[in-house]
Amino acid sequence: MHTITLIPGDGIGPEITRAVQDIFTAAQVPVQWEEQNAGQTTFDQSGELLPQALFDSLEKNRVGLKGPITTPVGKGFRSINVTLRQKYDLYQNLRPAKTTEGIASRYAESGIDVVLFRENTEGLYSGLEVYDEQRGIADSFNRISVEGSRKICRAAFAYAAKHGRKKVTLAHKANILKMAGTLMLNAAQEASREFPHIQYEDKIIDNMCMQLVIKPEQFDVIVTTNLFGDILSDLLAGLVGGLGVVAGANIGDDMAIFEAVHGSAPDIAGKGIANPTALLRSALLMLEHLGEHTQAKRIEAALNETLRHREQCTGDLGGSASTQQFAQNVINNLK
Ligand code: NAD
Repeated sequence: MHTITLIPGDGIGPEITRAVQDIFTAAQVPVQWEEQNAGQTTFDQSGELLPQALFDSLEKNRVGLKGPITTPVGKGFRSINVTLRQKYDLYQNLRPAKTTEGIASRYAESGIDVVLFRENTEGLYSGLEVYDEQRGIADSFNRISVEGSRKICRAAFAYAAKHGRKKVTLAHKANILKMAGTLMLNAAQEASREFPHIQYEDKIIDNMCMQLVIKPEQFDVIVTTNLFGDILSDLLAGLVGGLGVVAGANIGDDMAIFEAVHGSAPDIAGKGIANPTALLRSALLMLEHLGEHTQAKRIEAALNETLRHREQCTGDLGGSASTQQFAQNVINNLK
């Protein structure tokens, strides 16, 4: 039995979390949940965005599943996602994007099956910013380390080797970012020498964006820095049906937090119509991480069967099922 720290989050978070829990219970997945919330709802109740009890639970269980969290706008509120990623050195942001039968997109026929590795703790999101009020100039530092670059590039190649993938593409801007960009380029070349059976190429980020739109099926595993990865991962989601259907994970050497990458959807919160697919797919990545491959494949097959039938899906996918009905449809499709 695996104990998982469960962070339902805000808005539609608790609704889609419940759907995932129901599916796991019906499938008799060997996990038990330890619920510790964070975010706006928790802040309203206790005055704390990220309670100590949540850190304690994560440090004990080492694996978490997180719903979307409303980030209060205004000074002094640091993003909860960025805080957790940096505190626990969750340096890999894993974002798979795959075309699925039944999910409409402009590329529905393309057979896209790409996994993006985004460096998750450095670059322009390091939090190193200064504002010189007198001169009216703000500087944000794009901190890239040799160690951080090596770790993310190696992780991408190791994933490719483990999952029978053929090619790793580094997306970078070393032609302009002579120092920071070159560190990533060197790290990727170094990792590619360690995995000679995996094809390696590098592409400059602007060309990469164009190639992804023109011919996305040419890519397999992509590795890149924090800012480029943030943008590319949503671009990839857009190619396969949007943020409501893609999974995400933040992985370190000894902790991993799996999350829905969409937001808390305040416009539909409480209506019971949110699509739980993204959180469920993230939970399936979690099962793979825990070594529960058979259960992950079984639930994935039931989910894909549900997605093939529009009438079994939620409104955003063209159906009319509620969140709970969608979960029940997945349960009914379990073999
Ligand atoms: P959003 O993703 O919450 O919503 C954008 C649109 O997509 C809305 O129309 C919403 O109804 C729809 N949508 C999103 N998820 C859906 C689902 N599962 N099923 C059906 N429809 C869905 O983005 P936003 O409105 O820009 O952000 C709302 C809040 O979420 C903000 O406070 C933002 O900071 C936060 N946010 C959190 C995360 C996170 O915790 N990972 C990510 C993005 C945004």
